[in-house]
Amino acid sequence: MISIDNKLYIRDIDTYIDPFFPVERAIITHGHADHARAGHKHVLCTPETSEIMKIRYGENCASSFQTIKYGHSVKIGKISVTFYPAAHILGSAQVLLETAKHRIVVTGDYKTILDRHLDPFEVVPCDLLITEATFGLPIFKFNKPEMEIERLLDNISKNRENTFLIGAYSLGKAQRIIWLLREAGFSDDIFVHGSMDKLCDFYQSKGIRLGTLRKATLDNKKDFKGKIIVAPPSALKDRWSRRFENITRCYASGWMQVKQRAKQSQIEIPLVISDHSDWNELTNTIKQTGAQKVWITHGREDALKYWCEKNGIQAEPLSLQHRDETNEL
Ligand SMILES: [Zn+2]
Ligand SMILES: [Zn+2]
Repeated sequence: MISIDNKLYIRDIDTYIDPFFPVERAIITHGHADHARAGHKHVLCTPETSEIMKIRYGENCASSFQTIKYGHSVKIGKISVTFYPAAHILGSAQVLLETAKHRIVVTGDYKTILDRHLDPFEVVPCDLLITEATFGLPIFKFNKPEMEIERLLDNISKNRENTFLIGAYSLGKAQRIIWLLREAGFSDDIFVHGSMDKLCDFYQSKGIRLGTLRKATLDNKKDFKGKIIVAPPSALKDRWSRRFENITRCYASGWMQVKQRAKQSQIEIPLVISDHSDWNELTNTIKQTGAQKVWITHGREDALKYWCEKNGIQAEPLSLQHRDETNEL
């Protein structure tokens, strides 16, 4: 049996998964700040995640990086570690810990619907599944993102005097929104907030076509009529956004399914586009892995625990701290 505890510490190999504090050895599932922190000694992750961490935290954010691609394994002591696509953001991985007799999968953040700019999610059979549950309530059921983008484009074509400011996390969501707009045929220049241009360049360098992007600096107010500006959600609220005229506020997040949230943040066009699994994706994944045991790292744990138990699967909430996508700016 592999021994892993409720802080995702694997005793046999003295390694943590996504630790929030600096450690000797860490496996990092993906580059979001609630999973990837600076200051670890040895980091094992995908090549993309190591590049993202270096872009965000600097070249020396860990003493050493070891990278493995999806589908490849490394043996650490008696445990074999393999990464599989989590389809959450570029480089995001599920981690399989395996011995001859025991298989544990740590999903990290994930979604299972097809998102063609990323490698598709793979179901990895296991004995213990350690899953997130950000949207772990039956009310969460996301539409196709293409429908949301179509609604946005329709609105833009009818309101050419307005500037469309879209709130989206700088890493992953922003690039996905821009990519979806390009896929829908939107070829106009897109403006981006200064905090995300390096990450956009990184996505482009990996062959993800984002088209012509320009920095949203204020040279000429007229430049922004009928245009799209993508910015981190925090920028929608602060002074930065007040420099633009006739703003229509949009926000791309799974949370936009909660009408109250959109209203509170004065979002005129909520775009329900999530990089996390909805209820059906979570429960289908649990079923398909065949796990007899499920640990739920964070999110809406109770409903998922209840569902597991009703289906004869043992479930344990871990209530990991500091895991909150709403802080991922
Ligand atoms: Zn994430
Ligand atoms: Zn997260």
